Amino acid sequence: MYKYILQDLPYDYAALEPYFDEETMRLHHDKHHATYVANLNAAAEKHPEFFEKFGDDFSVAHAAKILGNVDAIPDDIRQTVINNGGGHVNHSFFWEILTPADGEEIRDPQGELLSAINETFGSVDDFRAKFADAAKSRFGSGWAWLVVNKDGALEVVSSPNQDTPLSRGQTPILALDVWEHAYYLKYRNVRPDYIAAFWHLVNWEKVGENYLSAIGSN
Ligand code: MN
Repeated sequence: MYKYILQDLPYDYAALEPYFDEETMRLHHDKHHATYVANLNAAAEKHPEFFEKFGDDFSVAHAAKILGNVDAIPDDIRQTVINNGGGHVNHSFFWEILTPADGEEIRDPQGELLSAINETFGSVDDFRAKFADAAKSRFGSGWAWLVVNKDGALEVVSSPNQDTPLSRGQTPILALDVWEHAYYLKYRNVRPDYIAAFWHLVNWEKVGENYLSAIGSN
C-alpha cells in the first residue's frame, strides 16, 4: 500500500494557546495538512514503482528523500509531489519544532546551536530579526527557514508555496509557515504579529538536535 499517514500533533490542539489558537491548529492539521497527505497518496498511486524505489515505510523521511530528488519524479506528478509532498514534509517538520509556551518568556537556543547562531548572525536577536524579515518579506504563501547549507553553515532562507529547502540540498532545522491559513483567524492580515508570537513557541531543544544531526556530529 502506498499510504503516507497524517500523524497526530505531538501536543494538544490547544497547547500552543494563546499564541497559536486551537481553532487554527485544528484546521491547519486536520484539514490543510490532511489534504496534502491525501493528494500525495493519490499521486503515489499513479507511480507506485517510483515511490517503492525509496523504500516501503512511507514515513515522512521517505517523502523527504523524494523531495531531495525532484528531477527523478515522473513528469506527470512532479509538481503535485513538490506541492503536496512538500506540504506533508514541511508541516510534519513544523509541528515538531513547536512546543507550548513558558508563560510570556521568549526562550533562547542553547549549546552548539547557540554558538553557531552567535558566530553566524552576531547574536540571537540579530538572528531573530533576520528570520522575521525573511518571513515578512516572503510575498504570498511560503515558508521561512533556518537551514544548514551545503557548506555546513547556518543560513536564513525563504521559499514559495510548499517548496522545501531539501530540494536545494539544504537541511532545515527551524521553520515558520507563513501561509495565511497559518495565522489569518487570529492575526488577520498582520503577519508580523504572528511572527512575533512564534518566538514564544520555538522548541529550541528539538532545533538544537536538528542542528547536530544536520552537521553530522551526533
Ligand atoms: Mn500550513
